[in-house]
Formats: sequence, C-alpha cells, structure tokens
Amino acid sequence: MTLVGIVGGGQLGMMLAEAATGLGIECVTLDPAPDSPASRVARTIVGDYDDETALGELSAAADVVTYEFENVPVASARFLEERVQVFPPPESLEFAQDRVLEKTLFEEVGLAVAPFSPVSSRDELAEALEVIGAPSVLKTRRLGYDGKGQIRLASVDEADNAWRAVGEVPSILESLVPFERELSLLGVRGRTGRAAFYPLVENRHRDGILRVSIAPAPAVTPELQATAERHASAVMERLGHVGVLAIELFQVGEDLLGNEMAPRVHNSGHWTIEGAETSQFENHLRAICGLELGSTSASSYSGMVNLIGSTPPDGAFDHGPRVHLHLYGKASRPGRKMGHVTVVGADPITRDRVLGRVTQTADNLG
Ligand code: AMP
Repeated sequence: MTLVGIVGGGQLGMMLAEAATGLGIECVTLDPAPDSPASRVARTIVGDYDDETALGELSAAADVVTYEFENVPVASARFLEERVQVFPPPESLEFAQDRVLEKTLFEEVGLAVAPFSPVSSRDELAEALEVIGAPSVLKTRRLGYDGKGQIRLASVDEADNAWRAVGEVPSILESLVPFERELSLLGVRGRTGRAAFYPLVENRHRDGILRVSIAPAPAVTPELQATAERHASAVMERLGHVGVLAIELFQVGEDLLGNEMAPRVHNSGHWTIEGAETSQFENHLRAICGLELGSTSASSYSGMVNLIGSTPPDGAFDHGPRVHLHLYGKASRPGRKMGHVTVVGADPITRDRVLGRVTQTADNLG
C-alpha cells in the first residue's frame, strides 16, 4: 500500500487523508499537536516542522511526502527531499512564501499584477508611496494569511501607522485594485507534466477571510477560463509543480490580475468533494503518486460557506440532502476556520435557494 506523508495535520491534511481511503492509500501526518484535525483519520507523528528527528521519521515511513500549508520551512522540504520524493517541489514553496517572488513570477508568465513595490524600511515605504500612491495595501512579504499581516492605506499620510501595523518587517506595497470580483483557478499537474483545471470559482471574503465560494463561477466566458488556465499552466511549468496549485485572481472587466498562489489544495476547492467528478484532494494524491488524473469537470452547481469562529450546534445545517457539513474538530477561536458547508444543486436556481438558507444560518451563528 502506498504511504503518503503529509507535513501539517490541519483540515486540508484531514481531507487529503479522507480522500486517500478511496485510492487504497494510507496517510501519516507530521504536526506539533497530537489532536490535530487530521489525527482523527490518520496516524500523527508529533513534532515541529523543523524537527529533524520527526522529519526523518516521516521520510522513513512514507513513499512520497506532500504538505498542506505553504509555510513549511523550505529547509525542511529540502531535508525531506534528500530522503524521499517530495511533491510539490520545494521551489513551489519558495515562490509561494514570498509575495515579491510570487508576483515577479506572475509577471514573467504574462499574468498582470497590481502595481507593487518591495519595501524594507520606513524610508522605502515613503519612496514606494510616491510611485504607487493611495489607496494601497501594505502586506508583509512572508507569513500573511486570511487578511493577517496587511493593512490598507487610504492616504499617504497613514504611512507611519501602516509601517508599525505590519511589524516593520520586509513588505510589499500594492495598489488597491477596484476589482469586480475575486476568482480562483485550481489546477493539478501530474508527474508526467499533464495538467487539468477546475472551472473558475468566484470567492467572497469577509474581514479578509474567505466566506463563500460559488462554483463554477457564474458568467465566465470560455476566453476568460482559457486565459486563466494558460497562466496557471505556465506557472506550474516554470516551477516543475506536481500536485494541486491554486491561483487567486482579481477580475477587472475581462482582464485578470494575479494576487497570490498556494502550492497545495485550497479552501476555494472544497466544493469539489461533492461538486466535481474528482475532488481536489483525490487529484492531488493522484498527481503526487503518479496515478492518472481524474476529471476536473463540475458535476453540479455548488456553493461553499466557511464556518468561522465556532462549531455550529447539532442540527443547525439540517437543510436537506443537498447540504453537506464538514467539521474539523478544532477548538473555537475568533477568525478560525472550524468547518464548511457545501451545497449542491442540479441547476443554479436550486443551488442559490439552498445556499441562501445556509448562508443565513451561518451568519446567525456569527
Ligand atoms: P491576500 O492575503 O493577498 O489574499 O489578501 C486578502 C484579501 O484582501 C484579498 O482576497 C482581497 O479581498 C483583498 N486584497 C488584497 N490585495 C488587494 C489589492 N491589491 N486590491 C484590492 N483588494 C485586495
């Protein structure tokens, strides 16, 4: 039986391990917490992500190692790579961990990005503001997620406050994009280089955190889908990527701007468990294990709502058979992703009707 090692035991690791059972694959995760979400469905090696004893144990146990979050230390990925196959390659991590490298890569493959400038001191922020202006957003180059590590500037006078707010660390100043909507494209690339793409997803955020995904995104022209796929394909080729890669995009008219990428399964792809012919989790495992990729077609119209901050009471989402509740078994904390609900419908009208009820219930819960 193939044994897949997963660095990280969060909900993404949990859903990877769940998908593995249908492929006859077993998973083992590495996580500092013994009671991580993935520990409910897979064996856990308890250790820090830079603990060489724990990394050694993982590489000895596994036939192939992957990761479920992009802030895995690159040194750990390289340590693993000397001992076992690691997919996606550490290069994908390196680029995704640094907003400047990421945006430069997007530009290189022809995917436009918002005007930006790297900033590593208060003086450089002043210089960058002369070029980029306001409104703009200052983001830490590294370790930002769910809207953390970034602050908006309505005017250039807010520079002092913004520099303090990001913690005076290397950052990037970006022009604020007046986008019509946010989209994401999930691609999966196999070991042979064959790639497949899910339909574009429309994403709505609240307080910087993904709240709702609609899939397939409404009103996407074949040209827009093809453009997004062309860019994602070029990014994956450049990195030699194997596995799922998600690119977050801003749509402005019929143009796309690249915002960021995740070299892993992604929250905006959770709908694929019930709403696509093959889930992103299964396809990620297929890709890294050298199996044939499954179809990425949508099998219905889906909507996904994240449950943030607290676990809902039993029965809260008993809204019928089109509603699928996934709970991650985490302790409640404000802003924490506790679970998600996916709604599937045979047509967009049914999906929207049920999604409306589910969103209302989620809003009432907080
Ligand atoms: P990020 O961490 O880069 O994904 O940013 C989190 C969210 O902030 C995005 O999903 C957008 O809703 C918003 N955002 C980030 N950067 C920009 C930008 N340059 N212009 C407009 N909105 C942005």
